[in-house]
Amino acid sequence: MTTPIDRSTAWPYEDGEVGAFWYSRDGGPTVAEAERRLGELDGGRALLFPSGMAACAAIVLALLEPGKTVTLAEGAYYGVGAMLDGLARWGVRKVEFDQTGPPPEGADLVWLEAPSNPFLTMPDFEAAAAQPARVVCDSTAATPLHVRPLERGCDLVVHSATKYLGGHDDVLAGVVVCGNEEDHARLLEHRTQTGSVTDADTAWLLLRGLETLEVRVARQTASAQAIADRLRAHPAVTAVRYAGFGGLLSFDVADATSARRVETSTHLVVNSTSLGGVTSRIETRSRWEGDRVPPGLLRLSVGLEDADAVWADLARALESA
Ligand code: PLP
Repeated sequence: MTTPIDRSTAWPYEDGEVGAFWYSRDGGPTVAEAERRLGELDGGRALLFPSGMAACAAIVLALLEPGKTVTLAEGAYYGVGAMLDGLARWGVRKVEFDQTGPPPEGADLVWLEAPSNPFLTMPDFEAAAAQPARVVCDSTAATPLHVRPLERGCDLVVHSATKYLGGHDDVLAGVVVCGNEEDHARLLEHRTQTGSVTDADTAWLLLRGLETLEVRVARQTASAQAIADRLRAHPAVTAVRYAGFGGLLSFDVADATSARRVETSTHLVVNSTSLGGVTSRIETRSRWEGDRVPPGLLRLSVGLEDADAVWADLARALESA
């Protein structure tokens, strides 16, 4: 009923011949099974990495070279921008753009996010696909249930599998899904060379999480839709950002002080970072992202609790704003 965990780091040759698996830095059966499932979900060939950021970094390092430009969706996950800034000394240039329109000319890699975290904008896939550079879409918050970027003209998809794919806050992992064989081969070679690999236990937990992905995301979406509507009608809330699907949203209260009061006044909703787990959580994003986000912006990841109970908790916390 379940995929066995094979923790071997090496497998014997057969009559002196190398078989399907030989050394776990190159791949192993449990990781391969997780990659098969992830590839199926996004409609391409998947490669697992030890975190979402490791997956993002592998794309840049394996597919670009010094002197190349990445055009990054404004308001996308701040860690990707920080990673690209860090790679500036290796000769990679970052240019931000509004992903709701066409990317600027001169890109070597266009980086989209569906929807962006925490601004919840959706990319213009058609405009991105119409330009000549490779296009990658970070689809962490959408999951393959809501958006399949390879079918929208993207070349690669990346997910922080730490979030919805794992789904239980006990797996740190990332995945790149490639739409063509050449990119897959280059990324696989890079992964083996750099050793940025995932262990069998992590792959197994991810496989278990995937069993319930559909029901989790369906419930999180239904609850988040109801909560977004109620937030929009709340007098203390000045803006609500929601893509219309998925469990992630953000909203603003008057200022940083009010936001701090709200995040520290919830009981059911945990005051914590991350998203996509079974437990609802809320946090002010300015603590991480500084003045890149409004000071009163709160990011909410809706979990699997009863939606009315989540709303009752939030509504009570909002009284403190
Ligand atoms: N992409 C997005 C959209 C994220 O939200 C995150 C983490 O929050 C990452 C990438 C990085 O993933 P990880 O934390 O698994 O390295």
